[in-house]
Amino acid sequence: MVLALRRRRLAVPVHLDLRLGQQLRRGSAGQYPALIDPAPPPTPDLLLTALRGGCPRCGEAGLFSGVVTFAPRCRHCGLDFASFNVGDGAASFLIFIVGGIILGLALWLELSFAPPIWLHALLWIPLATGLTLGLLRLAKAILIAMEYRHEAAAALSEANDGPD
Ligand SMILES: [Zn+2]
Repeated sequence: MVLALRRRRLAVPVHLDLRLGQQLRRGSAGQYPALIDPAPPPTPDLLLTALRGGCPRCGEAGLFSGVVTFAPRCRHCGLDFASFNVGDGAASFLIFIVGGIILGLALWLELSFAPPIWLHALLWIPLATGLTLGLLRLAKAILIAMEYRHEAAAALSEANDGPD
């Protein structure tokens, strides 16, 4: 879906690394020549990496050890996932989204076809569970990737503002 949206230019990848590059060039161009590499290492695409459950630094899969539980660290680059605090904000936000979708669908089905109650249970309980877990996984992967990029940017600007 992301690719389809991209082809229609509805979804554009966020290039934080480009902004960082500009800051470096504007800041102390002579000070950190090594940091102004014309070809910086590619940062994995945030959405695609999150969809695959990939590590925010190297992009390799293996962010989760359980359904929605982070692995302690990346098996490929060793990034410590436990040091990030994603919190429960995503879960409470998703309850409203998934609840709204399921409630709307259930009302529509009831008013259109008036099916027996067991059919409602059969449809909505697995759908709500699947949607919640799937979206929670995606949201947590996006949040940890954003937190990782924010910390990387902060560390870089701190290094930039350091003593001469
Ligand atoms: Zn990694």
